[in-house]
Amino acid sequence: MPTVNDKLLAIDSEHVWHPYSAIGAGLPVYPVLSAQGVRLKLADGRELIDGMSSWWCSIHGYNHPEMNRALENQLECMAHVMFGGLTHPPAVELAEKLVHITPEPLQSVFFCDSGSVAVEVAMKMAIQYWHARGQRDRQRFLTVRGGYHGDTFGAMSVCDPVTGMHTLFSATLSPQIFVDAPRPRFGEDCTEEDLAPMAQMLDQHRHDIAAVILEPIVQGAGGMRFYSASWLRRVRQLCNRYGVLLILDEIATGFGRSGRLFACEYAGIAPDILCIGKALTGGYLSLAATLATTDISQTISRGEPGLFMHGPTFMANPLACAAAIASIRLLLDSPWQARIDRLEQRLEHGLAPCRNLDTVADVRVLGAIGVVEMKQPVNMKTIQPMFVEAGVWVRPFGRLVYLMPPYIIGDDDLDTLTTAVCEIVARQ
Ligand code: PMP
Repeated sequence: MPTVNDKLLAIDSEHVWHPYSAIGAGLPVYPVLSAQGVRLKLADGRELIDGMSSWWCSIHGYNHPEMNRALENQLECMAHVMFGGLTHPPAVELAEKLVHITPEPLQSVFFCDSGSVAVEVAMKMAIQYWHARGQRDRQRFLTVRGGYHGDTFGAMSVCDPVTGMHTLFSATLSPQIFVDAPRPRFGEDCTEEDLAPMAQMLDQHRHDIAAVILEPIVQGAGGMRFYSASWLRRVRQLCNRYGVLLILDEIATGFGRSGRLFACEYAGIAPDILCIGKALTGGYLSLAATLATTDISQTISRGEPGLFMHGPTFMANPLACAAAIASIRLLLDSPWQARIDRLEQRLEHGLAPCRNLDTVADVRVLGAIGVVEMKQPVNMKTIQPMFVEAGVWVRPFGRLVYLMPPYIIGDDDLDTLTTAVCEIVARQ
């Protein structure tokens, strides 16, 4: 008799795409039937301690009673209603909250469905801003190598050209302007030399750049690098000097993950446009937002064509907004800063043994992010089952084996995660 597990896997492998996957490639996937706290419960009865927060999202853990209650309450009112010509309490309350907790100049909120779309919206806002100001040639974006901003075409155009596979889509993708990723690491100062490539490109393309777009402090899916806050601060100054907008993509870093509520706080700066997503709903539903300054929203709205040209069907979905309100309340009512500090110390301590391994290039920790960078790419086919055997859910990519657990994880579970990483990395 085939088990539930077998049946799910048979249909899945024949018909279902997974992220960055091939149909029928035989890479393992693991059916999950439920999740509770920091534990994923597999269809075969095993339980795994979650080291990934479902890609930066599930900061409060799974199946949280307060989150569930917020969704049940909203469900009794309405799951969804169109946003064109209508508004509703969850959207208004969430927008007010977001304006309150993000840097002061950001006053206008555009809700959308995913991080990639939030980036598209940010890029369109920048282009429309300059269009409204009569500077229609400003359509390009300046960014750094090693970045990641999403998988749609606009977002992809500002991802790292190599890992973002630009060559595959070269006829369709807008060519953007790249400089090397910031050299100074987190905690280091930034010299004139470190800033020079940015300054040169801004000078050279001063009439055709709409905005600089960056992930602040943490380059996530493009390499999990942590860079200097003073470099970021100096880039803000450069943008001011050249009259170019600054878009910060805090989709991964937002809501405490880096050790600050928003990573740009390390640099003491505010962007002109901010993208948030992922942990916004505590991992319950897909929702993202793009926030802009009053100058940007007013200029776009008063200029030609007098509208911002974007409007998704599920814009400001009430259920997702209710989840976000509950998640932000839970986060801000919790001792989140102390929790992240504790996670940082424990990750640092727990991953330290990896520093001595010949196969390891670097170990780095910031906030609730712990990274072991290998010298060679890991073999996913063999390493993934090792983590599952060890009772943990860790999903490496390329040369990176990393942890970003839910903030509520206890010391013992976190130690189990770091021990599993050390042991399995040692076997590579
Ligand atoms: N920007 C950053 C910094 C991200 O990490 C991601 C997702 N990994 C995205 C954008 C895209 O978000 P989504 O997958 O929700 O489209």
